[in-house]
Amino acid sequence: MDNSNPNLICKVSIPHTYAKAYDYAVHEDKPPMGSRVLVSFRHQELMGVVLDYERPEKKHELKPILKILDEKPVLDDKDLSWLKWMSQYYHTPFSEILGLAFPKALKSADFSLQRPQEIWLALQTDVQHLDLKRTKKINTLLELLEKNPLRLSEVKTLGLTKKFIEKAFEMNLIRSFTKDLEQILPSRSLEDIQLNTEQQKAFDQMDFSKFSVCLLQGVTGSGKTEVYIEAIKKILQKGQQVLYLVPEISLTPGLLQRLESRLSTPLTVFHSQLTDKQRSNHWLSAYHGQAQLVVGTRSAIFSPLRNLGLVIIDEEHDASFKQLEGVRYSAKDAVMMRAKILDIPVILGTATPTLETFQHAQQARYQLLKLNQKALNQMPLHYQIVDMRRQKIQHGLADETLNIMKQHLEKKQQVLIFINRRGYAPLLFCHDCGSSIECRRCDANLTVHRSKYQLVCHHCGWSQKTPSQCPKCFSDQLIPLGVGTEQVADFLKSHFPQETVLRFDRDVIKNKTQLEEGLQKILKQQAQLIVATQMLAKGHHFPHLSLVVVLDGDSSFYQADFRALERLGQMLTQVSGRAGRADIPGEVCIQTHLPQHPLLLTLIQKGYEPFLQELLKQRQEALLPPFSYLALIRIQGKDSNTVIQNMKRLAQMLKSLGVDVWGPSPAPMERKANIHRWQIILKSPQRHLLHQQLAQTHNWLSQNCPKVLRWFIEVDPHDWSS
Ligand SMILES: [Zn+2]
Ligand SMILES: [Zn+2]
Ligand SMILES: [Zn+2]
Repeated sequence: MDNSNPNLICKVSIPHTYAKAYDYAVHEDKPPMGSRVLVSFRHQELMGVVLDYERPEKKHELKPILKILDEKPVLDDKDLSWLKWMSQYYHTPFSEILGLAFPKALKSADFSLQRPQEIWLALQTDVQHLDLKRTKKINTLLELLEKNPLRLSEVKTLGLTKKFIEKAFEMNLIRSFTKDLEQILPSRSLEDIQLNTEQQKAFDQMDFSKFSVCLLQGVTGSGKTEVYIEAIKKILQKGQQVLYLVPEISLTPGLLQRLESRLSTPLTVFHSQLTDKQRSNHWLSAYHGQAQLVVGTRSAIFSPLRNLGLVIIDEEHDASFKQLEGVRYSAKDAVMMRAKILDIPVILGTATPTLETFQHAQQARYQLLKLNQKALNQMPLHYQIVDMRRQKIQHGLADETLNIMKQHLEKKQQVLIFINRRGYAPLLFCHDCGSSIECRRCDANLTVHRSKYQLVCHHCGWSQKTPSQCPKCFSDQLIPLGVGTEQVADFLKSHFPQETVLRFDRDVIKNKTQLEEGLQKILKQQAQLIVATQMLAKGHHFPHLSLVVVLDGDSSFYQADFRALERLGQMLTQVSGRAGRADIPGEVCIQTHLPQHPLLLTLIQKGYEPFLQELLKQRQEALLPPFSYLALIRIQGKDSNTVIQNMKRLAQMLKSLGVDVWGPSPAPMERKANIHRWQIILKSPQRHLLHQQLAQTHNWLSQNCPKVLRWFIEVDPHDWSS
């Protein structure tokens, strides 16, 4: 083949090659932009995507494109602009973004874009009440499908035409679903719920005609989901697709049931536990328009919904929308950009908006719609601060707290004790020499897990048998310090022997089944005292639960991260949403050594919004986001000297350019799994300035940082305390 003097250079991006794109020659067939092509790359034949074309300036010797893989491009112009934006914004090569956006199968040249096969089944079997022309024929079809779901080709061999099937489909009598895809079919009897006046008013104010962001603010039980459902119906009726993002599918089992009972469209569920086959089928069904409503977590934003008409982000404040490894992107920010490019609306929903969202709403850049009146008509919450100073404390609980708990238990109500620390105690301490037992691989104490007789590192997973003697002085006076869920649960079992205690953390609840069982136990009042981590802080409402105890209200005040207080406010507000109902007032009891902290007082006396106002003032004074833009740059490696030297060189280079650099400083945990980590933080009053500086940083690191080290740039970091 003649490779010389091609008329055009084709820029092909190949996933996981850590470069933007490579040059190839085009001869006769010019693949459209966004097409998958086969190219040879370092002695391999690999799949790549056509990104761009260029006129060659001089004579090039280029390898040709071997094959165009599909009839149509997999990415259209808008997809390409969006993914290019992600690549630029997160300072990550396009090929890495592609690696993220494509399921594994799509990266193989053998993969075909064929529509996944559909299987038909009966949605209703009782058609007596319907006025049908061909009842007999329809009955035959439904009887067949009721016994055994069939493929379209199989249905056809029974003498039923495709047209007939389509008719039955339109009448909601039958449904198709795709194998190897997590799809939930609508229930046979759909519920129809009328919006209340307030919900209707909010819905009527929404603009579905163009890109706009609306913040639907309302507490748990205020009926946000009902408003989402109306919006979904409206978009589906227009023949468009909907993307509904949630923080975690397994923590919101009630949501899927609710959608299933209200919408006649199957739900296509996307989450991180899907198999490779399910992932590729998900991609295909979104691409071919079979998936009309996708409910998914973070990476569902890459679903190739050709006809996307609405994005919903539920619990928009949730930290899990941020990816903390690989490409450190925010699914929320990224999908909002996708909506902007597509010119479609976005609905953000939460009881506790982030400070950024709150500010946008205040400046009227987001439309603010509030649902104040609780649909459940709950009694207002009662907050109580327990001053921990000079109190008798047993296993993390003050006597005053135990008394309050007793009052609620005597009324046959449930109590939730919230503590965000698993295990028995966060450290094992030697009474004689004062040392604590640390992880060999991290700068962290090992957590005591008593029932397993183990010390566990919660950062790298290292575990060892609990020693009987101090490894330094051989004393046998080893005492666990601090409290974790295991200890609180053990103590409560002995303190309230007549009650059942349920522990709810990742050490006990390891899968979906255990989660369901745990939730059922609480709902059926089979446990009176529930000791839980953050796991239970979101999305659930328990009608018989009337008291939430926040065991350690202080930890956030001492964290290095500037978002710690914002998260505390969200957590306290969310946790309080678990308690109370129409006839039982809910109570939240916060144990703290800082009972006079002004922000805490604002939060509990005035509420979440005045609390945010205060925080916003503080951020403005400190010129922190949203009043400035930040990026975190971390270098890590096995040899701490090399790490520090290179971090210092980078910081010097940036400082000489006049960049506002914090650091270099060690990461809050300097050594993790034997890797040393140092960091700097860049701050800029303007976003475009920050991005210029990051481009320089990226260049410097690519050219100067030794290959033995790893580094990353995180734009808009959420949390640098880990
Ligand atoms: Zn643990
Ligand atoms: Zn000792
Ligand atoms: Zn460790």
